[in-house]
Amino acid sequence: MTLTPLELTRPATVTDAFLSRLVARVPGQDRAPWPLTEVYTGEVLVELPQSSPDEVARAFAVSRAAQRKWAATSVRDRLAVFKRAHTIFVDNARTVADLIQVESGKNRRMAIEETCDPPMVMSHYLKRAARLLAPKRRGGPVPMLSNSTEIRQPKGVVGIIAPWNFPYATGISDALPALMAGNGVVLKPDNKTALSPLYGVQMLEEAGLPEGLFQVVCGEGPDVGPSLIDHANYVMFTGSTATGKVIGERAGRNLIGCCLELGGKNPMIVLDDADMAETVQGAVFGAFGNTGQICMHIERIYLPESRYDEFKSAFLAKAKALDVRAAYDFGPDMGSLVSVDQMQRVKSHVDDAVAKGATVLCGGKPRPDLGPAFFEPTILEGVTQDMVCGVTETFGPVVALHKYRTIDEAVALANDTEYGLNASVWGRDVAAARLVAARIESGNVNINDILATAFAAKGTPSGGFKKSGVGVRHGDQGLLKYTEVQNMAVLKKQVMGAKPGQDYEKYIKGMLSSLKMMRRLRIR
Ligand code: NAD
Repeated sequence: MTLTPLELTRPATVTDAFLSRLVARVPGQDRAPWPLTEVYTGEVLVELPQSSPDEVARAFAVSRAAQRKWAATSVRDRLAVFKRAHTIFVDNARTVADLIQVESGKNRRMAIEETCDPPMVMSHYLKRAARLLAPKRRGGPVPMLSNSTEIRQPKGVVGIIAPWNFPYATGISDALPALMAGNGVVLKPDNKTALSPLYGVQMLEEAGLPEGLFQVVCGEGPDVGPSLIDHANYVMFTGSTATGKVIGERAGRNLIGCCLELGGKNPMIVLDDADMAETVQGAVFGAFGNTGQICMHIERIYLPESRYDEFKSAFLAKAKALDVRAAYDFGPDMGSLVSVDQMQRVKSHVDDAVAKGATVLCGGKPRPDLGPAFFEPTILEGVTQDMVCGVTETFGPVVALHKYRTIDEAVALANDTEYGLNASVWGRDVAAARLVAARIESGNVNINDILATAFAAKGTPSGGFKKSGVGVRHGDQGLLKYTEVQNMAVLKKQVMGAKPGQDYEKYIKGMLSSLKMMRRLRIR
């Protein structure tokens, strides 16, 4: 039975008192608040304070004061906070999922999966951070008499700007290595999805994170963004490619570093020998998981002619059978889009494709009977590059099927895009699949999976090629990017340069032959 929104009972944890306490930490004296709504019903949940540029500046000042003490705290004591936080985060995963669901409208399965990301990131860096942050003694130019030490110092206060599709994962997970490295953080979540990251900050403080170190400011991006970037020592941005260019330009003008994790138009290539049942199941998640609002999800599927019809009929049957509706239990396969605006964007992409000759194999329409922002799982055929969804990220439950004749053609089609975030290759012969994967211009490539295998591999850096990003999260770089490196060099005795009165030719000869000797002895 399909529930109508009016029959929904909000999760018991999401009380007015709880929400008021959460938003109380957001500064917003000078501006009218923003009505944060429950996606499934459109009802206002809480009035979210909106921060002025002065309040953003004050948030940085408070964080900076706390950061000086935090940076002076030993790495071991800093990491102890995150050991405690890991337990608190896992114990409260269901409450976090309640908040994620009310603010984003995603189904419960995706909400609970999202809660796993910060604990996974914590676990990884709890093992790795002490080694990464320890000073590393290296040789100097004069063997025995000199040395140099690589010292990692925090950047200062990191500004994080997060999107609405994974508000908790991007808002909190990206802050964790920054905090472990000794930084303060000022986070600007999307207005629509500020609740789950606010709860994440509360849990970190329960675990012992010093108060004031992690600030949250809220507001529309163009209002809050400039002030945030101007006060930050580094910016971590996740969002669209268009906004990423604005952020990157301003960070560049301020001569601060930034990491930009941006959009994708991700291809899936099915090889001749693919296990069809697994491939179809994977495609269902790739196209419709999180209602198609995953940066790494699949919008283009390339199939060999020999297996096109087989895939198409199985994929269509599965898509048509999906349980799409509003519910706070684990029942539905797919939930809502995040907002009516996003639904209109998705609809406009489908309408444009149809007007230019694409065929809708299933779905294609909004479902106001299920909730204000629902859209059907949609499969298209005949999508071409003159259509908006042929070249631009749709970011909804819409996917196009294409045929290919040769592997070269499949690779060329997959690479024919300005994006390069994620790709997925399916085939039983993993060695052959790897050869195809290596030819795809993409920061992540999953073999026999859509995205989780790459994204959950926290030890490997993950980022975008081409217009999908600059820099990475995860891996050693995911923490080291939040540090300045200081090269502290020691010379025990002044021996460099010609001695007074020494013939310069003789000095140079000695120096050049010692270069050769050092090369042979591999001394640096
Ligand atoms: P968006 O770029 O519109 O907004 C992202 C964040 O930037 C929001 O907090 C927004 O308020 C803020 N913002 C907007 N304009 C700004 C400005 N001028 N200055 C400063 N901040 C500004 O993106 P979105 O629609 O919220 O998110 C969806 C996009 O995010 C998709 O393109 C998706 O692919 C991408 N995304 C990428 C990744 C990744 O890891 N590569 C992960 C999640 C989402």
